[in-house]
Amino acid sequence: MCKLLSFSIGGNPGFGVLDGGKVFDLGKRLPGVPDLRSLLSAGGFERAATAIAGATADYDVAQITLEPVIPNPGKILCIGLNYQDHVAETQRARTQVPTVFTRFSDTLVGHAGAVIKPRHSDKVDYEAELAVIIGKPGRDIPRERAAEHVAGYACFNDVSIRDFQGHTSQFTPGKNFPGTAPFGPVLVSARALGEVGPQRIQSRLNGKGMQDAHLGDMIFPIPELIAYISQWTRLAVGDVIATGTPGGVGMKRVPPVYMRDGDEIVVEIDGVGTLANQVTAG
Ligand code: MG
Repeated sequence: MCKLLSFSIGGNPGFGVLDGGKVFDLGKRLPGVPDLRSLLSAGGFERAATAIAGATADYDVAQITLEPVIPNPGKILCIGLNYQDHVAETQRARTQVPTVFTRFSDTLVGHAGAVIKPRHSDKVDYEAELAVIIGKPGRDIPRERAAEHVAGYACFNDVSIRDFQGHTSQFTPGKNFPGTAPFGPVLVSARALGEVGPQRIQSRLNGKGMQDAHLGDMIFPIPELIAYISQWTRLAVGDVIATGTPGGVGMKRVPPVYMRDGDEIVVEIDGVGTLANQVTAG
């Protein structure tokens, strides 16, 4: 057992364990634990395993709607320019410390949910990323202790509205349109994934490969990100760090490739999952 998820069924939110295509509803079994973020503070994966030991599954995965892995993170911290080939394609200088910007939680979308192409722009781009989910709070976390603060990982698509991203030097508008951050399908435990590095990270637009790299290609590895960020903010349980995207984004292709109504965008990371979403005009 190593996969947790947030879902809804019949309009009601829930959270649970995914195992072999079956869903075990933890909300029914853990009174006083309202959501997945709370579970991470209240025993996490081990408590989930204990709660469903010997139990019969509640739903088939086809019966539920997947919600963003953590629907209500206190903070979503996104890293820009963290793969050398992406730094090169943007013709920006490599930085001495990580580039960090933020997202609001209302930008998040679950697996199979709609990515909203806003009426304000035709420059909607994909960015395949690994998301880190914090499992233990902390400030001034030394890099050699960073792993203790990681609950697990999920796929993330840092969909970007490029014209709004480029209006000024601040990325915020282009990264915060509602319905532009697919996050899922599930939370994979840090223990299950093991060492971050050899896993392949890819994106595919309508089945065509667009990005293809390895997590080990990150300029600032996860422990450095956690050490840097925790100097200036307290990392809380359920906070999300999207660790940056490799080269191959649509904006830098010749000619540029932007996503349109009806397109399917997939982010796949070995051992973490496959996150697929359709673009819908909003
Ligand atoms: Mg990004």
